[in-house]
Amino acid sequence: MLDSCATLLDVLTHCAQRVPLYRGVEAPRPGESSADALARFPLLDKATLRGAFPHRLVPEGVALPQALKRGDVSFVGTSGTGGERVQVLWHQPWWDAQELAGFRLHSAMAEHVDRPGFREAVLTTPVCSGNLCHVAALPMEERIEGQRTLFLNQTVHPGSWRDADIARMADELERFRPDALEADPAYLAWFSVRLARAGRGVHQPRFVDVSYEFPTRCALAQIARSFEVPVIDTYGSTECGFVFCACEHGRYHHNSEWSHVELLPLERVPGAARLVVTPLGNPWLNLVRFDSGDVVRQATGACPCGRGGVTLEAIEGRIQDFVVGAAGELVSVRRVDRALGAARGVLQWRLVQSAAERFELEVVPDELDTPALDDLRERLAELLGSRPDVRAVRSIPVEASGKFRPCRAEHLDVAALAKGTA
Ligand SMILES: [Zn+2]
Repeated sequence: MLDSCATLLDVLTHCAQRVPLYRGVEAPRPGESSADALARFPLLDKATLRGAFPHRLVPEGVALPQALKRGDVSFVGTSGTGGERVQVLWHQPWWDAQELAGFRLHSAMAEHVDRPGFREAVLTTPVCSGNLCHVAALPMEERIEGQRTLFLNQTVHPGSWRDADIARMADELERFRPDALEADPAYLAWFSVRLARAGRGVHQPRFVDVSYEFPTRCALAQIARSFEVPVIDTYGSTECGFVFCACEHGRYHHNSEWSHVELLPLERVPGAARLVVTPLGNPWLNLVRFDSGDVVRQATGACPCGRGGVTLEAIEGRIQDFVVGAAGELVSVRRVDRALGAARGVLQWRLVQSAAERFELEVVPDELDTPALDDLRERLAELLGSRPDVRAVRSIPVEASGKFRPCRAEHLDVAALAKGTA
């Protein structure tokens, strides 16, 4: 079994020698560098992971039924993206340890997470939150896990929250008084706007950490209406754990004890790279070179916070969420988001491209201010080289995964285009 001190070389040796998925891949040779050994392993995508689950991921000589019975491991469906749910083997002690290490990458979180009695509330899709699902009306007590974590939401689309749901969640925050609120930024933006519209104050945690999907500037501005505490962006996945955390200077630092990351340059997008992750130290999560599907930009130079290791300037969004500008350039979610900015009156938006020069921007007004739709059209025209249609809508559809998809090109396979395989 591996432990928290496992190195990349340990993981590669373990996987090549004992995990059926990697049968045929040569284990690291004596004296060989981990980089050389790693290069022999193929990239792992979700389709391969799905096909391997569960037996080809379980090390030889380990009895899965007994381990499941003992509770050492469980099956967890990820809230995966692209409408493709994936299952992984979930080992709670690993999850807790690496998450705690991730929280220490920001001073506002590090200060609180080690304190006895630390509690957090979670606001995200109820479809699946880590190893839990909460699509049902359950009393608060039954949504508290381990006396530590309260799952607030029981509604599939935040646009469907009734006034009573908003009041219930605000009441529960006051009763539970969590130190942290972990949230999908799109869901928290809706909650924050609804609180503001109701004129209702809310319990202030010590910090908010946003995860699960890309935090748009509009969402962050809406969250700031009701939450006057540090809002920290963290990056992770059910497959690979807590991988990056934004620091006080807005750069993303790697949770390096618990994963190895590779940044594979994307030729079509200068300066951007695909993020590939190998988790470390988890005896049950035998994934090597997992293709996250996300695109990042590496930072140049040292971060003023003094933290070292792999540092990102930005997370650009998912590779499948690029759109294509009129001049043929690939435009990431982050660039669209920067162009729109924290636009007044906008709760949420979605950009859909249906042809080379045909874009539509859907805008959900917050009903507190009037959005300047013409201004948004001009901002995007400058970025895309083509003037989009802009219209106000009541809500934006949520994906089966429970996440929103801020940008999409429907007229071509944009991920293949970005990878150069189209
Ligand atoms: Zn930093």
